[in-house]
Amino acid sequence: MFMRCISKAVGRCAVVGSSHSVSRSLLLLHRTAKTSLAAIPQSATLGLCIQPCQQLQVFTRRIHSSLSPSLSLAKTPSPYLHPQSGPLQPQPLDLDQPYPPPPEDNFYTISFYSFFDIPTEKTTRLREQLQTEWSRDLQIVGRIYICEQGINAQLSIPVENTQKLRQWLEAHPVYAGRIPRFNWAIEHRQAFKALHVRVRPLVATGSEFTLQDLNHEPEYLGPEQWETELQHSSEDKQPLLIDMRNSYEFRIGKFSGAVCPDVDTFREEMNVVREMCKDRDKKEPIFMYCTGGIRCSVAGAILKSEGYENVKTLQGGVIAYGNHIRRHPEKAKSSLFRGKNFTFDKRLGEEVTSEIISRCDQCGGPCDTFTNCANRSCNLLFIQCPSCAEKHKHTCGTDFCKERAQMSHEELIKNRMPSIWNYHLRVRPEKIFSKDGIAQIPSELEMKQ
Ligand SMILES: [Zn+2]
Ligand SMILES: [Zn+2]
Repeated sequence: MFMRCISKAVGRCAVVGSSHSVSRSLLLLHRTAKTSLAAIPQSATLGLCIQPCQQLQVFTRRIHSSLSPSLSLAKTPSPYLHPQSGPLQPQPLDLDQPYPPPPEDNFYTISFYSFFDIPTEKTTRLREQLQTEWSRDLQIVGRIYICEQGINAQLSIPVENTQKLRQWLEAHPVYAGRIPRFNWAIEHRQAFKALHVRVRPLVATGSEFTLQDLNHEPEYLGPEQWETELQHSSEDKQPLLIDMRNSYEFRIGKFSGAVCPDVDTFREEMNVVREMCKDRDKKEPIFMYCTGGIRCSVAGAILKSEGYENVKTLQGGVIAYGNHIRRHPEKAKSSLFRGKNFTFDKRLGEEVTSEIISRCDQCGGPCDTFTNCANRSCNLLFIQCPSCAEKHKHTCGTDFCKERAQMSHEELIKNRMPSIWNYHLRVRPEKIFSKDGIAQIPSELEMKQ
């Protein structure tokens, strides 16, 4: 009997019924099955996080003491965590906010992520479906990751198909109700060449995490609230504000006063952050931000599960903050973020404020335009000003790269060669360039020529 009540109580919103019937079910549960509550599968109890507030209050009042403490943390419906199976309430069609004016090339760039359970055996089929239908029917280009824990998508889409994408998602048995509002880029254009859908972890943490781990959600602050809280905390003393991105990302833009760990990967980042926080009072606030929010959803949950009680993240990341500044141009001068937001697509960055906080890696002049060396087997990621781009033919300046950058596609295939740099060197131009702004290619490679 009470198992039926449980499935009713923790099922999808639509079938929950009135708060009266829910409270009756829960009361019944409380009276008859206090000990059995602990036996509810964790994934089922998690569903309560998305109940309408009123029902959640009834729930917490009635049986709060019977629950594992982690569940009491979810005070409001979670924006990104949807662990139930079965369809949820459809998400809005993103129509209640004005679309940006159509960009010149007619492509919007958007991103979204969501954590929910996808059975392992379904991931490959879902990957194939997205790869086929999104490129064929919606002309989407971009990079999508799916895995057992959900989806993480960055994509560009023709303006006229944007509503169709939401309709596609809301008509799909797996995605319906689980994809929060799209995170719109600050600057729009076709940012990818093709569509690549892959089955792989949504965030490379270096260790496995489950949906249950993510239940320790951090607090999500919208841009306005983020500003208010940061300014308010800094009146007492400078709050701990952590940039959760890699070192090359914050070179061209960051929040004032942020601690920016000098790392190349998210995995390294977590270790540095743990070390940084280990002697702190666990009640002290920790503010963190990243590009679009997903890394902070994961990092925040990890920190909270390790006992830090007051973890606050910027919802929608720098992208959302940049849009906030664009909507309120009068705030640009006092923007807490200065410079550009690095993006993992062809654009390699979008402007939040016009301030330039970085320098050209080749001549040292003020510049915040990232580029990749035009020689694909070099592909060095560095900052290059227009005059150095012309001088060095869009390369890192070596004769080797200049020569290969001129080769035709056929010649390159004939002279195929592996990447010169490993990932860590490829994103560290300061280790590669000599004083004259020419990359120092390893000598063993020169011998091969
Ligand atoms: Zn330059
Ligand atoms: Zn090069």
